[in-house]
Amino acid sequence: MTDPAAATTPTDIDVVRDRHVRITFGDGVVAAFGVHALRAACPCASCRGWRERGEVAWPRPGMPDVIAVAHASLTGAWGLSIDWSDGHSTGIYAWTVLRDWWDRGLAGGLVDEPADPRPDPPR
Ligand SMILES: [Zn+2]
Repeated sequence: MTDPAAATTPTDIDVVRDRHVRITFGDGVVAAFGVHALRAACPCASCRGWRERGEVAWPRPGMPDVIAVAHASLTGAWGLSIDWSDGHSTGIYAWTVLRDWWDRGLAGGLVDEPADPRPDPPR
């Protein structure tokens, strides 16, 4: 039986800066997120605020619609922190949220993260 935590635990992360972030999860599922979709779905508070007002978080008017990953780093065990080529770097992409988004066919955005993250389940 598969460990349920495996579905939200990455075993491999491949970043192609101007194309995608591809994550292999512990249950074997490979999820590829285009950089444009990821940037538009940035989970930080200010981008979330744009979307809650019915506007696009990215690209904002007057901004270039070209984007790339400048730098990506692990945030503890729970997510990926991305510095974007437009200077934006406040969003942290949690594995659980990314996996949920992928399982929903990238529908509905990446905004379902609870305000206060639930504690890790006991091991
Ligand atoms: Zn943001």
